[in-house]
Amino acid sequence: MLKRLRELMAEVLEPQERLDRVVAQIATSMVSEVCSFYVLRADGVLELYATHGLKKGAVHQAQLKMGQGLVGSIAATADPLNLSDAQSHPAFRFLPETGEEKYHSFLGVPILRAGRSLGVLVVQSKKERIYAEDDVEAMETTSMVLAEMIATGELKKVTRPGLELDMTRPISIDADGYGGGVGLGYVVLHEPRVVVTDLLAEDIDAELDRLNIAVKSLRVSIDDMLSRRDVPLEGEHREVLEAYRMFANDRGWRRKMQEAVRNGLTAEAAVEKVQSDTRGRMINLSDPYLRERLSDFDDLANRLLRQLTGFTPSAIATGLPEAAIIVARNMGAAELLDYPRECIRGLVLEEGAVTSHVVIVAKAIGVPVVSQATGIASLAENGDSIVIDGDDNIVHLRPATDLQDAYADKVRFQAKRQEEFSALRDVEPISKDGVACNLLMNAGLVVDLPQLRASGAAGIGLFRTELQFMISSKMPKAKEQETFYRQVLSQAGNLPVTFRIVDIGGDKVVPYLRSAEEENPALGWRAIRFSLDRPGLLKTQIRALLRASSGTELRIMIPMVTEVSELEKTRKLIDHEVEFLSGHGYKMPSKISFGAMLEVPSLLWQLDELMAAVDFISVGSNDLFQFITATDRGNARVSDRFSPLDAPFLRVLRTIVEKASETNTPLTLCGELAGNPLTAMALLGLGFRSISMSPAAIGPVKAMLLSLDIGKLQTELLRSLRDTKSGHSTKEFLINFANENNISL
Ligand code: PEP
Ligand code: MG
Repeated sequence: MLKRLRELMAEVLEPQERLDRVVAQIATSMVSEVCSFYVLRADGVLELYATHGLKKGAVHQAQLKMGQGLVGSIAATADPLNLSDAQSHPAFRFLPETGEEKYHSFLGVPILRAGRSLGVLVVQSKKERIYAEDDVEAMETTSMVLAEMIATGELKKVTRPGLELDMTRPISIDADGYGGGVGLGYVVLHEPRVVVTDLLAEDIDAELDRLNIAVKSLRVSIDDMLSRRDVPLEGEHREVLEAYRMFANDRGWRRKMQEAVRNGLTAEAAVEKVQSDTRGRMINLSDPYLRERLSDFDDLANRLLRQLTGFTPSAIATGLPEAAIIVARNMGAAELLDYPRECIRGLVLEEGAVTSHVVIVAKAIGVPVVSQATGIASLAENGDSIVIDGDDNIVHLRPATDLQDAYADKVRFQAKRQEEFSALRDVEPISKDGVACNLLMNAGLVVDLPQLRASGAAGIGLFRTELQFMISSKMPKAKEQETFYRQVLSQAGNLPVTFRIVDIGGDKVVPYLRSAEEENPALGWRAIRFSLDRPGLLKTQIRALLRASSGTELRIMIPMVTEVSELEKTRKLIDHEVEFLSGHGYKMPSKISFGAMLEVPSLLWQLDELMAAVDFISVGSNDLFQFITATDRGNARVSDRFSPLDAPFLRVLRTIVEKASETNTPLTLCGELAGNPLTAMALLGLGFRSISMSPAAIGPVKAMLLSLDIGKLQTELLRSLRDTKSGHSTKEFLINFANENNISL
């Protein structure tokens, strides 16, 4: 059947005629009186596009909604239906214009692409019979060819105006936004799908050989991964690989692909067909465990496809449009930084949460970002137009022109507002009641530095040095580190910079510093724990910082401190390096200020010792909140379950403020809480006078500060926290306060 279809595809024919001959051909091959082809339109209706056997007058007239009748259910569930008597099925819906009442047996299969239903292909016959398994397979294989016809736009000529096909349908998806504004542009899939262009096999035996060789080498590569020394004998990493090995050896999976080849597809088209069927089922599954398992198959299919087509999965290599919106299931912070910043207008993730590092980095480099956009990576095609709205928490894929125009206006408005904020750049950050505050910015890359002047920040409150390690392909040498820090200090001029020593581990993966897989990386071998165990790395960094700061102040800060003894050990290392370098005639910094991040709860019970051991403290509210509430900051299912604006967390912060003021210890907060005008307002109300945030947040936070009476807020907020209800949220109180007092949020 596929051979004949291939000949039909090659002939020069008008699209409707080609469709008519295709359905006639399928009916003959399937020994059925009827073959019909329904296509899903943008309005969610399945329209009869061609038929052999039903009344011709029904073509482009007969229609069913998604989920309606047998055809609609097949499209909605992405599952075939094989019935000996269609009319006795509860979902059957009679369409008088088709004259189908004469036919009893019915076989319908979904037409799938990347797991999405694009239409339905049906055969019917008068005799009551169940079609054989082979027939179902053959129909599914044939439907691949029809999916290709739809996807390549061949049917456009027979589409009536206003009733476009689903492939071009605008879709809006709710997502989590982070107030980063609006981005307009074109989809760039971070992991572009392999496009299979050769669907039909010339030589079935040769294709079977190709498939078998590819599956075999896939298995070998998984066995290799499992036998690598850095894969622990037990634990999650091994379990995932073991599951992969099991699936790669799954006979059912291989049999399905072989069957598709025997039915006339090339090896890669067969892999794609089975992958598409799996995805179709995955989309409809709610059980997270099963979805996970099916997504393992999906990953394996991608590996096979790459191998069979020699495809390299780099979106960057293929060139970016000028206004690129990167779409990914998830990605690491370093991967985002691989893209040329000047082309990126936004980032859309299916996973991710506010304190995921990729989200932090996107915000730091001023890229609007939304996460939790379910299904976006399967629904979007490279080059589709897309709008992301980080303020209204929504993504519009292939938006209608009027919506796009409205957003273009919004972008212009946003630019104007940004101009207003820049007008505040040189205004002193003093509250309405005369309290001076310190608004600092977070940074970590050279690209951030121009923002220091542009934003009007008073300095860099958190310089995440690990970002330089994360974006480089090998360990930065001592000299490179020194040059980099020197560059940072020289650009900062007389403004202070607080360097945090590397915070590696957790979700901050540094590829060349691979360590064993951990069950709970956030609680694992990370940050100062890692650095103290790898003193060579720590010493190199300290030395580079000391040399880069010669003659000026060096502010150095230690991440993830759990007990004060870790600070003592680090300080000893610093003293030792100072002695060593001075002994070798190097000019030392004019002053060394030594600080700790307060982000592990155990420090709350060592506050006196802690304050005595440091020159300053910076609260890492992202991690502190994660550990206080035991909620993974990168897992969106739980990350916003509790709010930092709930009383318990604010009380923790207030305790820190009180202790710092009692001991005269300079205090800053540098987590994401500082960068949102409402939460920043809460921090000011708690008594923080120094906060560090992404550069884009400085303007909005300063506007809030200028309109705020801190004294009044502090009295009311602290009173509200003394309220005995421990779980209560202060959000409503803060919003009301802002409204009543005309505070710019
Ligand atoms: C924090 O934990 O709040 C913090 C600022 O550090 P990071 O986000 O880099 O872990
Ligand atoms: Mg942290």
